[in-house]
Amino acid sequence: MRPDLTTVVGGMAQREALAALLTPPLVETGAAGPRVRVDLVACPTCGAPADDRPWTPPFGGTFEHGPLPVLSMLACETVTARSVLPIVVAAERFPELRTARFQTRALTWLEVAHLHLDKALEAIDAAERWVTDPAETDGRTLPASTRRHTAAVAWPSYRRDLVPSFLSPHASVPDEAEGHYAAELRAAILTNRPRQD
Ligand SMILES: [Zn+2]
Repeated sequence: MRPDLTTVVGGMAQREALAALLTPPLVETGAAGPRVRVDLVACPTCGAPADDRPWTPPFGGTFEHGPLPVLSMLACETVTARSVLPIVVAAERFPELRTARFQTRALTWLEVAHLHLDKALEAIDAAERWVTDPAETDGRTLPASTRRHTAAVAWPSYRRDLVPSFLSPHASVPDEAEGHYAAELRAAILTNRPRQD
């Protein structure tokens, strides 16, 4: 893989690792915790319709009332509950982000996939910098890997859908980029995880 691609992919993996290691807010048992309203977007690639799904906290569907941050995602993808911690933490710390709109990498990828891969990845990387600099306005992309969401229940397809992509269910990037991302993500989590001793 080209060195510039290695650098940007590694940086995105590092950002996801640090985001995943944020400390979740303390929520008393039975209390309503923070919510992120999900705005599903019909997928122009596979045709998945934007039908709402049942959600569990911290996700909320269109029925959630009140001022909340919004995460737009493709109807054919899913992200983990822990992956929205940067949104939850940012909404706690910065009032201007409490009703901000965020989007997954898969949606940002749709906007930039026509570029050369290096430029596309640089654009996504720039759109994630709000995580460490909330004043950054190049975009509000969630630094999180994504998995395919389908109604399939057959084990082979379910197992296939568990395999994440760092960009999108439909990203066409070299396998070595996915492999490099996964390796860098694991290494960053091991390096930065809280110690018990
Ligand atoms: Zn799709």
